[in-house]
Amino acid sequence: MELADIGQPMKLALEIHRQLRAQFDQVPTQLPLASLAKAVGIVGIKEIATDDFEGTLVVQDGFGAIGLRKGLRSGRRNFTIGHEIGHFVIPNHRFGRDKFQCAIVDMGRERSGGNWDSRPPLERIEVEANEFSAALLVPVPEFQKERRRLGTACDIVHIRQLAETFDVSQEMMAKIYVNASDESAAIITSHRGLVRRVIPKSGFPYLGLRRDAPIPATALTSTFRPGGGQSSISDLCEVATHTWLDRKGSVSALYEQVFVQEDGWAMTLLIADEEDSDDEDDDRDWNRRSDRQM
Ligand SMILES: [Zn+2]
Repeated sequence: MELADIGQPMKLALEIHRQLRAQFDQVPTQLPLASLAKAVGIVGIKEIATDDFEGTLVVQDGFGAIGLRKGLRSGRRNFTIGHEIGHFVIPNHRFGRDKFQCAIVDMGRERSGGNWDSRPPLERIEVEANEFSAALLVPVPEFQKERRRLGTACDIVHIRQLAETFDVSQEMMAKIYVNASDESAAIITSHRGLVRRVIPKSGFPYLGLRRDAPIPATALTSTFRPGGGQSSISDLCEVATHTWLDRKGSVSALYEQVFVQEDGWAMTLLIADEEDSDDEDDDRDWNRRSDRQM
């Protein structure tokens, strides 16, 4: 595989997809990561019993070798391989470095917020490797095709289904899912009633939830108790906006659905209906519309 002239992480992932499409007609929903690694010059992927890192890449004489922490779940394992392939193929990552050791905190680094140019270079390469891996593992056209098959409405069960289809973690799929949604949506993961992660679509009303904050007591996530034989997934129910939002703002209705998972984990979907912004033009349009109806 020839990738030498491409510098940008996303473009690199797209180029790999293009070459796979040329060969197989479409990108397989579960990428053949081992062969792909080989095709770009990575000679081996090994599991190592360690707590020092999630993934590591060692480069010697132009070839790479990947080490993975033993015991990673399939979705995380794929993400980590994608991340290390990223360090290998993104040209400026290898300037002056022949060994990468990536901790769990590196795997979670995101671009969001702040001034990109002022981020330390070592953080920036971790963000880029993550962006590359996500783009590589879930190609947009294949995602859209699978998403359309599930219908237009949001349903929290889709996240597990799509995570399984692409063999990625539910958390990663949740991020892709809310951002691709037509609705204003957010996902909250929690463990034994405490927030682990908040994944809002950009523009979702501010939730003000931090890691370890308790899930609101009146939320469906707190009150829903699937009994023997019942589904562990609730319906999507309307809840009072103040259950989750300090300020109602332009939100006219809030909906919540919860998926109770193994070992005290839960995933919550929130959907906010928002009124259109009420600047003067909108008001005039609205008045005209109501005039016509009368
Ligand atoms: Zn890394």
